[in-house]
Amino acid sequence: MIYKKNCLVLNSNLKNIYQNYKNKKYIIASFYKYFFISNPEKLLFFIKKILVKENILGRIYISTEGINASISIPYLKFKYIKNFFKNINQKTKKMYINYSIEKKQIAFFDLRIKIKKQIVSSKIKNFFFNNKNHGIYLTAHKVNKYIFNKDCVFVDMRNSYEYEIGHFYNSLTIPANTFREQLKKLPESLKLYKKKKIIMYCTGGIRCEKSTVLLKNYGFSKIYQIHGGILKYIKQTKKYNLPNYFQGKIFVFDARLSIKITNDIFSKCINCNKYTNRLHINCYNSSCNHLFIQCVFCSIQLSSCCSIHCKDTIYRQFIK
Ligand SMILES: [Zn+2]
Ligand SMILES: [Zn+2]
Repeated sequence: MIYKKNCLVLNSNLKNIYQNYKNKKYIIASFYKYFFISNPEKLLFFIKKILVKENILGRIYISTEGINASISIPYLKFKYIKNFFKNINQKTKKMYINYSIEKKQIAFFDLRIKIKKQIVSSKIKNFFFNNKNHGIYLTAHKVNKYIFNKDCVFVDMRNSYEYEIGHFYNSLTIPANTFREQLKKLPESLKLYKKKKIIMYCTGGIRCEKSTVLLKNYGFSKIYQIHGGILKYIKQTKKYNLPNYFQGKIFVFDARLSIKITNDIFSKCINCNKYTNRLHINCYNSSCNHLFIQCVFCSIQLSSCCSIHCKDTIYRQFIK
């Protein structure tokens, strides 16, 4: 166990992973709650004790503004862990927990619990975040009612690389590499739609808790958000047998990288611009941190580098 810079990394225990996760049915759960936490460090150690004991893996962020988690749980422990988190505070009692059953792929290889300044970074000028002022929550039923309505605009609040591989039919993207940058651009980008109903969405709903507040601060009045994000929407469409208007894949922030929802392909190779079904990769040149999509042909040509420049860089290292 290591504790440094407010981050607790519990060394992955491969033996435990094999016993509890490999080829076994397990649950991936994600949830968040905005509420005031006076002592994040105390909560961190309280949570850690239980999670280590029950072989839970994943990522948990704690800040004074709340908690955000994405974890994998052995199947039979799910109910117990769900109740544990619901009981950490009065405010988490009714918190919504997104979950799915997984068997084939392992999502996490260790457990990291981190203390952050904010659970979703939104420090921008003149923005006071009041978590009670969020948009109106929409269920999948309502989403489907609004999707072909000309008075509604769907806005994707995820990063560009997430939108690239899948999104709601006809939705807008606000091109940005970080959420903060996106928030800054938001009022100007949506100026034309001020009189329309704006429906915001993200993977699990956490970002929209903030982006909807920001738009309301800027005088937008008809602000909605998909409750529980894309994940809950997909679940509800399956449960109630509704048509699904999310097309392509969902990017997930764990070892699975993405979940396929429909066969639609939106992603293009960065080098030749042709459509490809491949997932994001990191540039093979380790000094370049570029995350991108590349077709098989270009991957072979460029040795899985993002550019000729990067390919040359690794080649030069190789001949040294
Ligand atoms: Zn290509
Ligand atoms: Zn590169």
